[in-house]
Amino acid sequence: MIKSNRNREEENEFDFENRIVTSSETAEDCEQELSLRPKTLADYVGQEKVKEKLIISMEAAKMRGESLDHILLHGPPGLGKTTLATIIAAEMGVNIRVTSGPAIEKQGVLAALLTNLKPMDILFIDEIHRLPRPVEEILYPAMEDYNLDIIMGKGPSARNIRLPLPPFTLIGATTRAGQLSSPLRGRFGSVYRLEMYDNEELADIICRSADILGVNTKPDGALEIARRSRGTPRIANRLLKRVRDYAQVKGDGIITEKTAVEALDMLEVDELGLDTTDRKMLSAIINFFGGGPVGLDTLAAAIGEESITLEEVYEPYLMQLGYINRTPRGRCATRGAYEHLGIEYPENKDRENRPSQNESLFENGNNK
Ligand code: ADP
Repeated sequence: MIKSNRNREEENEFDFENRIVTSSETAEDCEQELSLRPKTLADYVGQEKVKEKLIISMEAAKMRGESLDHILLHGPPGLGKTTLATIIAAEMGVNIRVTSGPAIEKQGVLAALLTNLKPMDILFIDEIHRLPRPVEEILYPAMEDYNLDIIMGKGPSARNIRLPLPPFTLIGATTRAGQLSSPLRGRFGSVYRLEMYDNEELADIICRSADILGVNTKPDGALEIARRSRGTPRIANRLLKRVRDYAQVKGDGIITEKTAVEALDMLEVDELGLDTTDRKMLSAIINFFGGGPVGLDTLAAAIGEESITLEEVYEPYLMQLGYINRTPRGRCATRGAYEHLGIEYPENKDRENRPSQNESLFENGNNK
């Protein structure tokens, strides 16, 4: 049976819950997320280029007494999109209404949200790529001229009613900017991509969170957790809490490099933040399929996972590390993957993995 995208996404969400290094939000994260979420731009670590541009836009909007331009934030989950939206509202001194694409099922829901906004307020729509198309369509005039166009009644007696809206700012967040329709993307005045954080930035975030949680954390302990956090603050905060538990039970409650290493090794999060499934995926490509290329469905079947989960959850970080290549013939493990797993890299692999002339032509043709 073919599953709908929504069902597949729901399955993925369920799957995320069981993974310690998932970048998606789990029930456990929600508990302390509020207290750990920075509330000012000064506390928001990293993303310097985005912050610099935002400060200028916010100052200019304040000087003109206008609402801020609509903003689209995109990037992988857990990098701070929601946090940044709440900080923008605080810095502008306005209210923020938080919702998400899948929660706005009908036009009426969006109409109610929009008509309840006060001048200058911010409407934050997370996962904006999942807005139903009819809902998206009433967003266009709302974003462009602050008008709400709704159709009352059905058939010949249907009437188009136009309601003026207060000037507001829409902040949309998405993990998949490519899935946004171009009319919607084009209506955002500013588009910012959030980047993965480096280890020093993550260590700063961990130290700040440790202070809030009242955990004594040494700088080398914070750095060790940072190294295994896959460039993602949400994962860094989650690993910090797990290491804190370990330090309390097995040690003196202080997080040092040694306790962090012991705790994370016990949790099977390796020195690059890879967990057992990441390693299983790499080792299957290498040991079962001679390093690849192997099709995603075959690989998924071999390790007992859904292909969509491999593609959306595991593969992006492995590709970012340069451990997996996507070729037209399937996935290949790179030299780095062999080295990470301590397996000798066959020297004839480089030649094999080079795309044939036909494939190169095909790819070029498609990229036009
Ligand atoms: P997203 O909306 O991109 O999925 P969130 O904004 O919910 O991510 O961020 C997840 C958590 O990570 C937040 O609760 C916050 O504690 C932490 N966080 C994210 N970005 C930063 C940052 N730049 N500085 C400090 N903490 C951050």
